[in-house]
Amino acid sequence: MSLTMCSNCNLPFSSRFRNDNVCLPCFKRSRGYDLTKADEAHERLAEEAKDLMEQVSTFKARVAELETLKKRVVELESQVKSSTQTTTVSLTSVPETFLKTLIMLCHPDKHGNSEKALEATKTLLALRKPR
Ligand SMILES: [Zn+2]
Repeated sequence: MSLTMCSNCNLPFSSRFRNDNVCLPCFKRSRGYDLTKADEAHERLAEEAKDLMEQVSTFKARVAELETLKKRVVELESQVKSSTQTTTVSLTSVPETFLKTLIMLCHPDKHGNSEKALEATKTLLALRKPR
């Protein structure tokens, strides 16, 4: 048993036979039979099932979009990591007086001897021009 789309109403139904291409309510209508309450319930369930199938496909597309975005974020994170290493190179063009100001501002003494402040100060000191 598998779900097939009815070629008449375009709603999903479970086909019992391989050559079924219309749902039972559509089959009954085509033959002029009266529909039972069960047939009407079948149609309402089929409409619900179609809505759910559309939602699932929307969610799958959204998941694919998010996975693409996640890959992009990972790429950007690695670019940021590698670019912070090259930023130190471009800082060599910073004027000496501004470099002194930066060193003064990030001195570990002013930041509770934090690792980051120490690291930043060392990096800035390394950029100073030899005298
Ligand atoms: Zn149908």
